[in-house]
Amino acid sequence: MAQRDFYEVLGVERGASEGEIKKAYRRLAMKYHPDRNPDDPDAAEHFKEANEAYEVLADEERRAAYDRFGHAGLGGNGGFGQGASSFSDIFSDVFGDIFSGGGRGGGRVHRGADLQYTLELDLEQAVRGDSVSIRIPSLVACHHCGGDGSAPGSSPSTCPDCDGAGQIRMSQGFFTLQQTCPRCRGAGKVVTDPCRPCGGRGVQEETRHLSVKVPPGVDTGDRIRLGGEGEAGPAGGPSGDLYVQIAVREHPLFTREGRHLFCEVPISFPDAALGGELEVPTLDGRVKLKIPPETQSGKLFRLRGKGVRPVRGGPQGDLMCRVVVETPVKLSSEQKALLEQFRATLEGGEQSPKEQSWFEGVKKFFDDLTS
Ligand SMILES: [Zn+2]
Ligand SMILES: [Zn+2]
Repeated sequence: MAQRDFYEVLGVERGASEGEIKKAYRRLAMKYHPDRNPDDPDAAEHFKEANEAYEVLADEERRAAYDRFGHAGLGGNGGFGQGASSFSDIFSDVFGDIFSGGGRGGGRVHRGADLQYTLELDLEQAVRGDSVSIRIPSLVACHHCGGDGSAPGSSPSTCPDCDGAGQIRMSQGFFTLQQTCPRCRGAGKVVTDPCRPCGGRGVQEETRHLSVKVPPGVDTGDRIRLGGEGEAGPAGGPSGDLYVQIAVREHPLFTREGRHLFCEVPISFPDAALGGELEVPTLDGRVKLKIPPETQSGKLFRLRGKGVRPVRGGPQGDLMCRVVVETPVKLSSEQKALLEQFRATLEGGEQSPKEQSWFEGVKKFFDDLTS
């Protein structure tokens, strides 16, 4: 698309003074400001064009380059770029903070508030995914007045401060500026006979029921965005979004670290010493785990593919089973006797290498202290 001549865009002569350029720009920016033309792509385009033109023509050096070489003299795409200030900066240069929020129309966009909801899930739900219905208290358009805030049978009347224009004029130095009417907040109408149930606000609280689709593999801290499910915008504006924040409850058996699951499995001393077969839990049910002879307490056994398939893709994680050898309790006298016999047969270091090296470490520690 060919770029229009900047002077033509602002509607000024080539020899226009700085003041004339500023004035022309201000008029256009007021007319096409996104705050006053919500959801109007045509106005947005005009607004952008005026900003580009003003940005160049207000800068003595860039204006001179433009005068000599046209758009080509500006380099790049001739508009923004080159580290030039964004249009929100130049906009507030010219207008100060006359538009609350300034710049890109941050303040006055009539959009409902975003809502956040914390959704608690069981580990199983988070891993497999689920469809969960939630109830959220939120603001919706008042059912009695339809959202205009006036009691049934009456309607809002023209705002006396701005005569329905939604804008008031105010003088500031040389300029007469237009400002959004503070009384009616730009609506041009005020409620004289307020709707009782909503007190004239036009909105009421309501609990909404929503179904949230939880994809498999989510974890604490993940967020699901439901567009348009936030609060209703005032005066019929678009609704905000709803953010569902995932919080996974603790599980009695498993802890999760990313895509891996961990669980602790107690085993008896004879099983650890002689080897054996255990039944261990997974999220898909029980599986058998072979324990080799002479297994030490704390050893991790990896069950491949029994972990979590991450929500953002990637291979399924593993389940790590940590075996913990349990010392038997409530021994009968017969068992005690057997263990006494057993103890007498143990041949020290050879059969307890860990104990042996520990004692050697302790001995060395004291030897070093006394030498
Ligand atoms: Zn109402
Ligand atoms: Zn007003």
